[in-house]
Amino acid sequence: GGAFQWDDPFHLDDQLTADERMIRDAARAYAQERLQPRVIDDYLNERTDRAIFREMGELGLLGVTLPEDFGGAGASYVGYGLVSRELDRVDSGFRTIITVQSSLVSHPIFHYGSDRQRATLLPKLVSGEIVGAFGLTEPDAGSDPAGMRTRADRVTGGWRLTGSKIWITHAPIADLILVWARSVAEDGLLRAFLVERGAAGLSTPPIGGKLALRTSITGEVVMDGVFVPDDAVLPGTSGMAGATRCLSPSRYGIAFGVMGAAEDCWMRTRDYVLDRTQFGRPLAATQLVQKKLADMQTEIALGLQGALRLGRLLDEGRATAELVSLMKRNNCGKALDVARTARDMHGGNGIQIEYHVMRHAQNLEAVNTYEGTHDIHALVIGRAQTGIKAFA
Ligand code: FAD
Repeated sequence: GGAFQWDDPFHLDDQLTADERMIRDAARAYAQERLQPRVIDDYLNERTDRAIFREMGELGLLGVTLPEDFGGAGASYVGYGLVSRELDRVDSGFRTIITVQSSLVSHPIFHYGSDRQRATLLPKLVSGEIVGAFGLTEPDAGSDPAGMRTRADRVTGGWRLTGSKIWITHAPIADLILVWARSVAEDGLLRAFLVERGAAGLSTPPIGGKLALRTSITGEVVMDGVFVPDDAVLPGTSGMAGATRCLSPSRYGIAFGVMGAAEDCWMRTRDYVLDRTQFGRPLAATQLVQKKLADMQTEIALGLQGALRLGRLLDEGRATAELVSLMKRNNCGKALDVARTARDMHGGNGIQIEYHVMRHAQNLEAVNTYEGTHDIHALVIGRAQTGIKAFA
């Protein structure tokens, strides 16, 4: 029994714990009251506001899954996914803050760092006092990060890093950059290093001219023999598999998050077509328009349900990298389809910033590419079902 709930067909809400609903509501209130009013300005001016890191830190949004000893909220991965969704509902660039700061920097330090690294760095990352970045991609190594060339040479008391990273979120403003490099003395073994702002030989020029994710600054990380001490290396992880392990929680957060951007496009479009009259009746009264709304509703409902299930599996320690690929690929691709369709259904107004849908569509172009492109994730899951690696 029970009535069909058009905006929550699977009763997602019923499947959450009281804690998860509380975290979601706090994130939604912050995102709608504090972020939504500044998104147009920040987007048009390509501005990344450092104050947002501290605001998110105060609300506990930068350490959702981390234990309370480190300033975290000690909540579930589902809670983290719900926060991602609320931030994406405003702008995928705002969600990218927690993807990088919490999943790609704090999470590896928590799981693979030394006691000293955890104690000194995590409280500052979780409070938003410092900004973190994650440097894996290089100019000649994107989808194939194993092709990276950045090298780490052993020297007295530490290492020297030489090489360059590109497309690194937060790099120009980061205080701390987790950089992957090949350890020359260990046959090119990949290791993660914590590089701090101010190190001699380090520069982080911004990448301008971005037509997507304009609220999220991106840059290069150029290292010209940057010295880092012995204990700058993350002791608990190495190799390509180690780097990939760091990416699973962030890809999951993206998969959950982008459904928020899709929902914002869908809701705005539904309102728009109910209101807009052409040929003597609302656009919403036409079959083509209703079919598009039905497609949006279906993909969003299924995408959220899949993301929720993946979150539960992560919480149980049973999520696989392949399932993360499946959900990241599906939800980013579907969210992009929803946003492009929403843009179209808004007619001329759809290209204007005040209507928000084209900004989401532009953002989702980048989100569909970063953290493994749509096609590369297809090849990961294709390999899992055929046993044949098609991408190398
Ligand atoms: P390429 O690898 O050159 O791919 C180009 C095209 O070729 C894609 O369509 C791809 O699917 C396709 N392709 C590649 N190989 C194959 C194949 N074998 N078979 C079929 N098709 C193939 N990286 C970080 O390390 N840290 C960050 O913080 C970060 N932030 C980012 C922020 C933004 C806004 C963007 C745009 C990127 C960011 N990245 C970051 C980099 C991102 O992860 C890479 O852009 C992504 O992995 C793709 O790599 P590439 O750009 O080199 O594209």
